[in-house]
Amino acid sequence: MPSALTSFKLFLPDNPLRNAAGIFVLTTLFYFVGAELRLVEALSLFWPLNGVMAGVFARYAYLNRLHYYAVSYVAMLVYDAVTTSWGVASLIINLSNMVFIVTVALLVIRDKQLMKGRPDPINALRLFNYCLVAALLCALLGAFGSVGIDSNTFWPLFADWFSEQFSTGVLIVPCMLTVKMPGAWSLPKPHLEKWLPVLALIVSVVASVVIGGAGSLAFPLPALIWCAVRYSLPATCLLTFMTGAVEVILVANSIINIAVAAPLSTPMMFSARLGIATMAICPVMVSVSVAAINALIKQVSLRADYDFLTHVYSRSGLYEALKQEESHPHSRFLTVMLLDIDYFKSINDSYGHECGDSVLATFARQVQKVVGEDGLVARMGGEEFAVVIGSADSRQGFDLAERIRVSVANHPFVWRDRTLFLTVSIGLGSGNAESRRLTEVFNKLMAEADDYLYRSKKAGRNRTSARLPDEIMVAEPERGA
Ligand code: GH3
Ligand code: MG
Ligand code: MG
Repeated sequence: MPSALTSFKLFLPDNPLRNAAGIFVLTTLFYFVGAELRLVEALSLFWPLNGVMAGVFARYAYLNRLHYYAVSYVAMLVYDAVTTSWGVASLIINLSNMVFIVTVALLVIRDKQLMKGRPDPINALRLFNYCLVAALLCALLGAFGSVGIDSNTFWPLFADWFSEQFSTGVLIVPCMLTVKMPGAWSLPKPHLEKWLPVLALIVSVVASVVIGGAGSLAFPLPALIWCAVRYSLPATCLLTFMTGAVEVILVANSIINIAVAAPLSTPMMFSARLGIATMAICPVMVSVSVAAINALIKQVSLRADYDFLTHVYSRSGLYEALKQEESHPHSRFLTVMLLDIDYFKSINDSYGHECGDSVLATFARQVQKVVGEDGLVARMGGEEFAVVIGSADSRQGFDLAERIRVSVANHPFVWRDRTLFLTVSIGLGSGNAESRRLTEVFNKLMAEADDYLYRSKKAGRNRTSARLPDEIMVAEPERGA
């Protein structure tokens, strides 16, 4: 349902005035939020501005212009000028904010350009590193700029500044890059079961407050991973951000008491053990999910690459196998055989579809047995199979085709109490496979094989036809055999 809220866009590619105003308002708004959370004179307990603006600039690449960054910087200076008496220090402190914003935005935009076309909205590991680098640079400048304010020295300021920028960045930037307008969210429906991960998250944060201690900060991890498995990416980013922000604020206000009692006392060890256990289970949870996904991918690709009934390659599987071959050194000469079972329809008609299926499976096994490791066998559809071999010349391919044909004719098929005699007609295509893509060569030779298969059928079936260096060869069963 498109409402005014869901269709509203703060930024538009070709509306510079609106964009500048949007950036000014957003910067001021989040500067206000950060300033309201200030613990000491200079440092905020939680400074969302940089993460939010870095996310905005990274998300809307057209905002990645010097004048838009300047608007953000000016908004910060104006806020300081109105609310503090920092004077020149404000120039440097806010420049350090800009360092964080520009660094993250540029790195993420570069990533997006490198990965053009790939549907990967964020790469969490890279984002983590980008926030690390940006926070280091920002903290250097920020700590330098705020030495003297409140008589703090450089290194404690640096540590405080860095840890705050890094943690806030990691929490907010993914959220900014993925967040959607409320109407577009895929929030879980009001079934209790769908809300269980959120419920577990709330319970774990409450447990952090009740139990306290160093381990308590890790308590929400399993619930967050549960959310990650159940909910969409934007929802997970938002929940993670909210949990992190709440924890920071609870710790700062001593509502979560990290330093319960003395080390080695029961409450401390209780909290630490629980926290370590909580942390330990998380990589296992992720690993189990990844293993399940990999098994599923393998199963799906197996299903696509192999024919379900006959267990030889499917048509698409054969193309994949040929592509794989391309990367290895392969024969100069390629032979493609097209095999079509003779009068197969009459087997279906006389003995039923089940018998037909069984014949197909047995036939494929027989062909695979004769071909062995020398080539690839695929079911191209119905009762048509293809065999691809790399050979020295067309004679070699022809000989193998004959061995297949004779082997099929000599192995009657037993169905319940009946014996069925089966024959196959074969057409061959062979040619040079050098300096061309194998799949291209295959397509060309397949057309030739199809042509010769038709000749085999027309000439009375149960035979192999091929073009040999200056003549057309037809091998047929010996009379009376
Ligand atoms: P020809 O000697 O000219 O090749 O005669 P044919 O009867 O083998 O040729 P045709 O192409 O007319 O018949 C192929 C039959 O294969 C028709 C179809 O019912 C049957 N068929 C195709 N796929 C399957 C399958 O998966 N299982 C079974 N049982 N039959 C199949
Ligand atoms: Mg056919
Ligand atoms: Mg047939």
